[in-house]
Amino acid sequence: MGGIGDTDFWFPSAGQERLWRGTGENEMSDRILVTGGGGFLGSHLCERLLGDGHEVLCLDNFYTGRKQNIRHLMSSPRFEFIRHDVTFPIFLEVDRIYNLACPASPVHYQRNPVQTTKTSVHGAINMLGLAKRVGATILQSSTSEVYGDPAIHPQTEDYWGNVNPIGIRSCYDEGKRCAETLFFDYYREHNLPIKVIRIFNTYGPRMHPNDGRVVSNFVVQALRGEDITIFGEGTQTRSFCFVGDLIEGMVRMMGTDSTVTGPVNLGNPTESTIRELAEAVLELTGSTSKLVKRPLPADDPTRRRPDISKAKAVLDWEPRVSLREGLAATIEYFRKECAG
Ligand code: NAD
Ligand code: UDP
Repeated sequence: MGGIGDTDFWFPSAGQERLWRGTGENEMSDRILVTGGGGFLGSHLCERLLGDGHEVLCLDNFYTGRKQNIRHLMSSPRFEFIRHDVTFPIFLEVDRIYNLACPASPVHYQRNPVQTTKTSVHGAINMLGLAKRVGATILQSSTSEVYGDPAIHPQTEDYWGNVNPIGIRSCYDEGKRCAETLFFDYYREHNLPIKVIRIFNTYGPRMHPNDGRVVSNFVVQALRGEDITIFGEGTQTRSFCFVGDLIEGMVRMMGTDSTVTGPVNLGNPTESTIRELAEAVLELTGSTSKLVKRPLPADDPTRRRPDISKAKAVLDWEPRVSLREGLAATIEYFRKECAG
Protein backbone atom coordinates (compact mmCIF):
# COMPACT_ATOMS: atom_id res chain seq x y z
CA MET A 1 0.00 0.00 0.00
CA GLY A 2 1.31 3.44 -0.80
CA GLY A 3 1.09 6.73 1.00
CA ILE A 4 -0.82 9.77 -0.11
CA GLY A 5 1.35 10.14 -3.21
CA ASP A 6 -0.24 6.98 -4.61
CA THR A 7 -3.75 8.19 -4.14
CA ASP A 8 -4.27 10.19 -7.32
CA PHE A 9 -7.27 8.06 -8.23
CA TRP A 10 -9.27 9.89 -5.59
CA PHE A 11 -9.29 13.00 -7.67
CA PRO A 12 -11.03 13.49 -10.99
CA SER A 13 -7.80 14.20 -12.86
CA ALA A 14 -6.50 13.25 -16.28
CA GLY A 15 -4.27 10.60 -14.70
CA GLN A 16 -7.17 8.96 -13.00
CA GLU A 17 -9.22 8.95 -16.18
CA ARG A 18 -6.42 6.98 -17.79
CA LEU A 19 -6.61 4.56 -14.92
CA TRP A 20 -10.18 3.51 -15.55
CA ARG A 21 -10.21 3.92 -19.33
CA GLY A 22 -6.93 2.14 -19.92
CA THR A 23 -7.80 -1.25 -18.50
CA GLY A 24 -9.93 -2.34 -21.49
CA GLU A 25 -11.84 -5.59 -21.51
CA ASN A 26 -10.73 -7.68 -18.59
CA GLU A 27 -11.63 -11.36 -18.65
CA MET A 28 -11.40 -11.50 -14.86
CA SER A 29 -13.79 -8.59 -14.42
CA ASP A 30 -16.91 -8.95 -12.30
CA ARG A 31 -20.24 -7.17 -12.47
CA ILE A 32 -20.35 -5.29 -9.20
CA LEU A 33 -23.26 -3.44 -7.64
CA VAL A 34 -22.44 -0.52 -5.34
CA THR A 35 -25.48 0.75 -3.46
CA GLY A 36 -24.99 4.32 -2.25
CA GLY A 37 -22.48 4.66 -5.11
CA GLY A 38 -23.28 8.36 -5.57
CA GLY A 39 -22.16 9.21 -2.04
CA PHE A 40 -18.82 10.09 -0.53
CA LEU A 41 -17.38 6.59 0.00
CA GLY A 42 -19.45 4.94 -2.72
CA SER A 43 -18.14 7.20 -5.50
CA HIS A 44 -14.53 6.48 -4.51
CA LEU A 45 -15.31 2.78 -4.44
CA CYS A 46 -16.94 2.87 -7.92
CA GLU A 47 -13.88 4.65 -9.25
CA ARG A 48 -11.53 2.11 -7.70
CA LEU A 49 -13.52 -0.86 -9.04
CA LEU A 50 -13.58 0.63 -12.56
CA GLY A 51 -9.83 1.16 -12.23
CA ASP A 52 -9.50 -2.54 -11.41
CA GLY A 53 -11.28 -3.38 -14.68
CA HIS A 54 -14.71 -4.33 -13.34
CA GLU A 55 -18.16 -3.50 -14.62
CA VAL A 56 -19.83 -1.25 -12.06
CA LEU A 57 -23.52 -0.72 -11.42
CA CYS A 58 -23.92 2.30 -9.19
CA LEU A 59 -27.29 2.51 -7.43
CA ASP A 60 -28.40 5.59 -5.50
CA ASN A 61 -31.46 7.73 -4.75
CA PHE A 62 -29.30 10.85 -4.13
CA TYR A 63 -30.67 11.36 -0.63
CA THR A 64 -27.23 12.59 0.45
CA GLY A 65 -25.22 11.69 -2.65
CA ARG A 66 -24.51 13.94 -5.62
CA LYS A 67 -24.42 13.53 -9.38
CA GLN A 68 -21.16 15.42 -9.51
CA ASN A 69 -19.48 12.65 -7.47
CA ILE A 70 -19.90 10.23 -10.36
CA ARG A 71 -20.17 12.53 -13.39
CA HIS A 72 -16.59 11.77 -14.44
CA LEU A 73 -17.38 8.02 -14.48
CA MET A 74 -20.49 8.27 -16.67
CA SER A 75 -18.66 8.04 -20.01
CA SER A 76 -17.05 4.71 -19.14
CA PRO A 77 -18.69 1.83 -21.04
CA ARG A 78 -18.26 -0.27 -17.88
CA PHE A 79 -20.20 2.14 -15.65
CA GLU A 80 -23.96 2.29 -15.28
CA PHE A 81 -26.06 4.43 -12.95
CA ILE A 82 -29.41 3.24 -11.59
CA ARG A 83 -31.63 5.68 -9.70
CA HIS A 84 -33.36 3.53 -7.11
CA ASP A 85 -34.26 3.44 -3.41
CA VAL A 86 -32.91 0.29 -1.69
CA THR A 87 -36.01 0.08 0.50
CA PHE A 88 -37.71 -1.33 -2.63
CA PRO A 89 -36.66 -4.65 -4.20
CA ILE A 90 -34.73 -4.72 -7.46
CA PHE A 91 -33.45 -7.48 -9.69
CA LEU A 92 -30.00 -7.20 -11.28
CA GLU A 93 -27.51 -9.83 -12.48
CA VAL A 94 -24.35 -9.20 -10.47
CA ASP A 95 -21.42 -11.16 -9.00
CA ARG A 96 -20.73 -8.93 -6.01
CA ILE A 97 -22.62 -6.33 -3.99
CA TYR A 98 -21.18 -3.59 -1.80
CA ASN A 99 -24.08 -2.31 0.30
CA LEU A 100 -23.32 1.29 1.24
CA ALA A 101 -26.70 2.98 0.81
CA CYS A 102 -27.50 4.87 4.01
CA PRO A 103 -27.02 8.46 5.13
CA ALA A 104 -23.96 8.50 7.43
CA SER A 105 -23.89 11.99 8.92
CA PRO A 106 -25.88 12.41 12.17
CA VAL A 107 -27.49 15.59 10.79
CA HIS A 108 -28.82 13.74 7.75
CA TYR A 109 -29.72 10.39 9.29
CA GLN A 110 -31.67 12.16 12.05
CA ARG A 111 -33.62 14.31 9.56
CA ASN A 112 -35.88 11.41 8.59
CA PRO A 113 -35.15 8.72 11.17
CA VAL A 114 -37.84 6.26 10.09
CA GLN A 115 -36.47 6.32 6.55
CA THR A 116 -32.95 5.78 7.98
CA THR A 117 -34.03 2.60 9.76
CA LYS A 118 -35.91 1.45 6.66
CA THR A 119 -32.85 2.08 4.51
CA SER A 120 -30.65 -0.02 6.78
CA VAL A 121 -33.11 -2.82 7.47
CA HIS A 122 -35.30 -3.07 4.35
CA GLY A 123 -32.25 -2.19 2.26
CA ALA A 124 -30.31 -5.08 3.81
CA ILE A 125 -33.23 -7.48 3.30
CA ASN A 126 -33.58 -6.45 -0.35
CA MET A 127 -29.87 -6.66 -1.10
CA LEU A 128 -29.44 -9.96 0.76
CA GLY A 129 -32.42 -11.37 -1.14
CA LEU A 130 -30.84 -10.25 -4.41
CA ALA A 131 -27.47 -11.76 -3.43
CA LYS A 132 -29.14 -15.06 -2.58
CA ARG A 133 -31.10 -15.13 -5.83
CA VAL A 134 -28.11 -14.45 -8.10
CA GLY A 135 -25.41 -16.14 -5.96
CA ALA A 136 -23.47 -12.93 -5.29
CA THR A 137 -21.03 -12.22 -2.48
CA ILE A 138 -22.29 -9.26 -0.44
CA LEU A 139 -20.40 -6.80 1.74
CA GLN A 140 -22.13 -4.66 4.35
CA SER A 141 -20.69 -1.28 5.28
CA SER A 142 -21.47 -1.36 8.96
CA THR A 143 -20.18 1.15 11.43
CA SER A 144 -18.34 1.82 14.68
CA GLU A 145 -21.74 3.14 15.83
CA VAL A 146 -22.71 -0.47 16.60
CA TYR A 147 -20.46 -0.03 19.67
CA GLY A 148 -22.49 3.02 20.79
CA ASP A 149 -20.81 4.96 23.60
CA PRO A 150 -18.25 2.21 24.20
CA ALA A 151 -17.43 0.90 27.67
CA ILE A 152 -14.24 -0.75 26.42
CA HIS A 153 -11.43 1.04 24.66
CA PRO A 154 -10.16 0.57 21.99
CA GLN A 155 -13.07 -1.28 20.44
CA THR A 156 -12.55 -4.90 19.39
CA GLU A 157 -14.99 -6.78 17.18
CA ASP A 158 -16.08 -9.08 20.01
CA TYR A 159 -17.41 -6.13 22.05
CA TRP A 160 -21.22 -6.10 21.86
CA GLY A 161 -21.58 -2.38 22.38
CA ASN A 162 -23.45 0.12 24.50
CA VAL A 163 -26.24 1.57 22.37
CA ASN A 164 -29.26 3.54 23.56
CA PRO A 165 -32.15 1.84 21.69
CA ILE A 166 -34.52 4.84 21.95
CA GLY A 167 -32.27 7.85 21.46
CA ILE A 168 -31.79 10.21 18.52
CA ARG A 169 -28.89 8.16 17.12
CA SER A 170 -30.77 4.85 17.41
CA CYS A 171 -32.33 4.96 13.94
CA TYR A 172 -28.82 4.65 12.55
CA ASP A 173 -27.12 2.58 15.27
CA GLU A 174 -29.90 0.03 15.72
CA GLY A 175 -30.63 -0.02 11.97
CA LYS A 176 -27.01 -0.96 11.33
CA ARG A 177 -27.03 -3.51 14.16
CA CYS A 178 -30.16 -5.14 12.74
CA ALA A 179 -28.56 -5.19 9.28
CA GLU A 180 -25.58 -7.08 10.76
CA THR A 181 -28.00 -9.57 12.32
CA LEU A 182 -29.68 -10.10 8.95
CA PHE A 183 -26.32 -10.64 7.25
CA PHE A 184 -25.32 -13.31 9.75
CA ASP A 185 -28.73 -14.99 9.61
CA TYR A 186 -28.52 -15.21 5.80
CA TYR A 187 -25.05 -16.67 6.24
CA ARG A 188 -26.22 -19.28 8.79
CA GLU A 189 -29.57 -20.06 7.17
CA HIS A 190 -28.67 -19.87 3.47
CA ASN A 191 -24.88 -20.21 3.49
CA LEU A 192 -24.70 -16.85 1.68
CA PRO A 193 -21.15 -15.50 1.27
CA ILE A 194 -21.14 -12.34 3.42
CA LYS A 195 -18.54 -9.78 4.48
CA VAL A 196 -19.19 -7.26 7.26
CA ILE A 197 -16.89 -4.32 7.88
CA ARG A 198 -17.28 -1.80 10.68
CA ILE A 199 -16.12 1.56 9.39
CA PHE A 200 -14.76 4.18 11.81
CA ASN A 201 -14.92 7.92 11.01
CA THR A 202 -13.65 8.37 7.45
CA TYR A 203 -13.09 11.69 5.69
CA GLY A 204 -11.65 13.11 2.50
CA PRO A 205 -12.40 14.73 -0.84
CA ARG A 206 -16.01 14.52 -2.11
CA MET A 207 -17.55 15.02 1.30
CA HIS A 208 -20.46 17.40 0.82
CA PRO A 209 -19.76 20.90 2.21
CA ASN A 210 -23.09 20.63 4.07
CA ASP A 211 -22.49 17.05 5.14
CA GLY A 212 -22.56 18.06 8.81
CA ARG A 213 -19.81 15.72 9.97
CA VAL A 214 -16.97 17.17 11.95
CA VAL A 215 -14.13 17.21 9.40
CA SER A 216 -16.18 18.85 6.64
CA ASN A 217 -17.74 21.30 9.12
CA PHE A 218 -14.39 22.40 10.56
CA VAL A 219 -12.61 22.71 7.21
CA VAL A 220 -15.45 24.64 5.57
CA GLN A 221 -15.82 26.92 8.62
CA ALA A 222 -12.06 27.58 8.66
CA LEU A 223 -11.92 28.35 4.95
CA ARG A 224 -14.89 30.73 5.20
CA GLY A 225 -13.50 32.45 8.29
CA GLU A 226 -16.56 31.37 10.30
CA ASP A 227 -16.54 30.19 13.91
CA ILE A 228 -15.43 26.57 14.40
CA THR A 229 -18.28 24.86 16.26
CA ILE A 230 -16.98 22.54 18.96
CA PHE A 231 -19.79 20.47 20.45
CA GLY A 232 -19.38 20.10 24.22
CA GLU A 233 -15.88 20.61 25.61
CA GLY A 234 -14.20 19.04 22.57
CA THR A 235 -12.64 16.38 24.80
CA GLN A 236 -14.54 13.57 23.09
CA THR A 237 -12.33 11.54 20.76
CA ARG A 238 -12.57 10.05 17.28
CA SER A 239 -10.04 8.28 15.08
CA PHE A 240 -10.03 9.62 11.53
CA CYS A 241 -9.26 7.47 8.49
CA PHE A 242 -8.51 8.90 5.06
CA VAL A 243 -10.86 7.69 2.32
CA GLY A 244 -8.22 6.00 0.14
CA ASP A 245 -7.03 3.83 3.01
CA LEU A 246 -10.60 2.80 3.78
CA ILE A 247 -11.40 1.89 0.16
CA GLU A 248 -8.29 -0.30 0.03
CA GLY A 249 -9.50 -2.15 3.13
CA MET A 250 -12.99 -2.61 1.68
CA VAL A 251 -11.67 -4.09 -1.55
CA ARG A 252 -9.32 -6.41 0.36
CA MET A 253 -12.22 -7.59 2.51
CA MET A 254 -14.33 -8.41 -0.55
CA GLY A 255 -11.37 -10.36 -1.93
CA THR A 256 -11.10 -12.72 1.05
CA ASP A 257 -12.18 -16.35 0.76
CA SER A 258 -15.68 -17.41 1.78
CA THR A 259 -14.62 -18.43 5.31
CA VAL A 260 -13.99 -14.75 6.14
CA THR A 261 -17.26 -13.11 7.14
CA GLY A 262 -16.09 -10.47 9.61
CA PRO A 263 -17.06 -8.33 11.29
CA VAL A 264 -13.75 -6.55 10.76
CA ASN A 265 -13.01 -3.05 12.05
CA LEU A 266 -11.64 -0.67 9.40
CA GLY A 267 -10.35 2.66 10.60
CA ASN A 268 -7.30 4.59 11.64
CA PRO A 269 -6.22 3.78 15.21
CA THR A 270 -4.69 7.22 15.79
CA GLU A 271 -7.05 8.93 18.22
CA SER A 272 -7.59 12.70 18.50
CA THR A 273 -9.82 14.88 20.60
CA ILE A 274 -12.23 17.07 18.67
CA ARG A 275 -10.38 20.13 19.97
CA GLU A 276 -7.08 18.76 18.61
CA LEU A 277 -8.77 18.24 15.25
CA ALA A 278 -10.00 21.85 15.26
CA GLU A 279 -6.50 23.12 16.08
CA ALA A 280 -4.95 21.03 13.29
CA VAL A 281 -7.51 22.41 10.80
CA LEU A 282 -6.77 25.99 11.91
CA GLU A 283 -3.04 25.45 11.53
CA LEU A 284 -3.23 23.74 8.13
CA THR A 285 -5.66 26.27 6.64
CA GLY A 286 -3.93 29.29 8.23
CA SER A 287 -7.40 30.45 9.24
CA THR A 288 -8.08 32.99 11.97
CA SER A 289 -11.50 31.48 12.78
CA LYS A 290 -12.40 31.29 16.49
CA LEU A 291 -13.20 28.08 18.34
CA VAL A 292 -16.68 28.35 19.87
CA LYS A 293 -18.52 25.87 22.08
CA ARG A 294 -21.96 24.52 21.17
CA PRO A 295 -24.13 22.09 23.17
CA LEU A 296 -23.11 18.45 22.93
CA PRO A 297 -25.80 16.43 21.11
CA ALA A 298 -27.49 13.60 23.06
CA ASP A 299 -25.74 10.22 23.16
CA ASP A 300 -22.60 11.59 21.47
CA PRO A 301 -19.96 8.86 22.08
CA THR A 302 -17.21 10.06 24.43
CA ARG A 303 -14.39 8.11 22.79
CA ARG A 304 -13.79 5.94 19.80
CA ARG A 305 -10.76 4.10 18.48
CA PRO A 306 -10.64 0.88 16.50
CA ASP A 307 -8.56 -2.11 17.45
CA ILE A 308 -7.44 -3.14 13.96
CA SER A 309 -5.54 -6.33 14.87
CA LYS A 310 -8.06 -8.39 12.92
CA ALA A 311 -7.76 -6.26 9.77
CA LYS A 312 -3.98 -6.48 10.00
CA ALA A 313 -4.04 -10.27 10.38
CA VAL A 314 -6.81 -11.12 7.90
CA LEU A 315 -6.38 -8.41 5.26
CA ASP A 316 -2.74 -7.40 5.80
CA TRP A 317 -4.18 -3.90 5.97
CA GLU A 318 -3.50 -0.80 7.99
CA PRO A 319 -3.96 2.89 7.17
CA ARG A 320 -0.98 4.69 5.64
CA VAL A 321 -2.17 8.29 5.42
CA SER A 322 -1.60 10.41 8.52
CA LEU A 323 -4.25 12.85 9.73
CA ARG A 324 -2.16 15.85 8.66
CA GLU A 325 -1.60 14.45 5.14
CA GLY A 326 -5.24 13.52 4.77
CA LEU A 327 -6.44 16.86 6.11
CA ALA A 328 -4.15 18.72 3.68
CA ALA A 329 -5.70 16.83 0.73
CA THR A 330 -9.20 17.44 2.10
CA ILE A 331 -8.52 21.15 2.60
CA GLU A 332 -7.29 21.40 -1.00
CA TYR A 333 -10.53 19.78 -2.19
CA PHE A 334 -12.73 22.08 -0.09
CA ARG A 335 -10.82 25.18 -1.24
CA LYS A 336 -11.87 24.38 -4.81
CA GLU A 337 -15.38 23.36 -3.72
CA CYS A 338 -15.93 26.57 -1.75
CA ALA A 339 -14.45 28.74 -4.52
CA GLY A 340 -16.64 27.17 -7.24
P1 NAD B 1 -22.99 9.41 2.19
O1 NAD B 1 -24.17 9.98 2.86
O2 NAD B 1 -22.10 10.30 1.41
O3 NAD B 1 -23.40 8.21 1.22
C1 NAD B 1 -24.55 7.44 1.37
C2 NAD B 1 -25.19 7.25 0.00
O4 NAD B 1 -26.34 6.41 0.12
C3 NAD B 1 -25.65 8.57 -0.62
O5 NAD B 1 -25.25 8.67 -1.95
C4 NAD B 1 -27.19 8.49 -0.50
O6 NAD B 1 -27.85 9.23 -1.49
C5 NAD B 1 -27.40 7.00 -0.63
N1 NAD B 1 -28.68 6.55 -0.05
C6 NAD B 1 -29.21 6.87 1.15
N2 NAD B 1 -30.39 6.28 1.32
C7 NAD B 1 -30.62 5.54 0.20
C8 NAD B 1 -31.67 4.70 -0.23
N3 NAD B 1 -32.75 4.47 0.55
N4 NAD B 1 -31.58 4.11 -1.45
C9 NAD B 1 -30.51 4.32 -2.24
N5 NAD B 1 -29.47 5.11 -1.89
C10 NAD B 1 -29.54 5.71 -0.68
O7 NAD B 1 -22.15 8.66 3.33
P2 NAD B 1 -20.79 7.84 3.28
O8 NAD B 1 -19.88 8.42 4.28
O9 NAD B 1 -20.33 7.70 1.89
O10 NAD B 1 -21.27 6.44 3.86
C11 NAD B 1 -21.43 5.30 3.03
C12 NAD B 1 -21.71 4.08 3.89
O11 NAD B 1 -20.62 3.86 4.79
C13 NAD B 1 -22.96 4.21 4.76
O12 NAD B 1 -23.61 2.96 4.77
C14 NAD B 1 -22.42 4.52 6.12
O13 NAD B 1 -23.25 4.06 7.15
C15 NAD B 1 -21.09 3.78 6.11
N6 NAD B 1 -20.15 4.40 7.07
C16 NAD B 1 -19.49 5.53 6.73
C17 NAD B 1 -18.64 6.11 7.66
C18 NAD B 1 -17.84 7.35 7.36
O14 NAD B 1 -17.17 7.85 8.26
N7 NAD B 1 -17.84 7.89 6.16
C19 NAD B 1 -18.47 5.52 8.92
C20 NAD B 1 -19.20 4.38 9.22
C21 NAD B 1 -20.02 3.80 8.27
N1 UDP C 1 -18.72 17.71 16.21
C1 UDP C 1 -18.34 18.98 16.60
N2 UDP C 1 -18.65 20.02 15.78
C2 UDP C 1 -19.29 19.88 14.61
C3 UDP C 1 -19.67 18.57 14.20
C4 UDP C 1 -19.38 17.52 15.04
O1 UDP C 1 -17.74 19.17 17.67
O2 UDP C 1 -19.52 20.88 13.92
C5 UDP C 1 -18.38 16.57 17.09
C6 UDP C 1 -19.55 15.64 17.42
O3 UDP C 1 -20.25 16.10 18.55
C7 UDP C 1 -18.81 14.33 17.66
C8 UDP C 1 -17.61 14.40 16.73
O4 UDP C 1 -17.45 15.77 16.40
O5 UDP C 1 -18.36 14.27 19.00
C9 UDP C 1 -17.79 13.60 15.47
O6 UDP C 1 -19.01 13.96 14.89
P1 UDP C 1 -19.49 13.45 13.47
O7 UDP C 1 -20.85 13.99 13.24
O8 UDP C 1 -18.46 13.73 12.46
O9 UDP C 1 -19.53 11.85 13.58
P2 UDP C 1 -19.93 10.79 14.71
O10 UDP C 1 -18.66 10.07 14.99
O11 UDP C 1 -20.44 11.49 15.94
O12 UDP C 1 -20.96 9.97 14.08
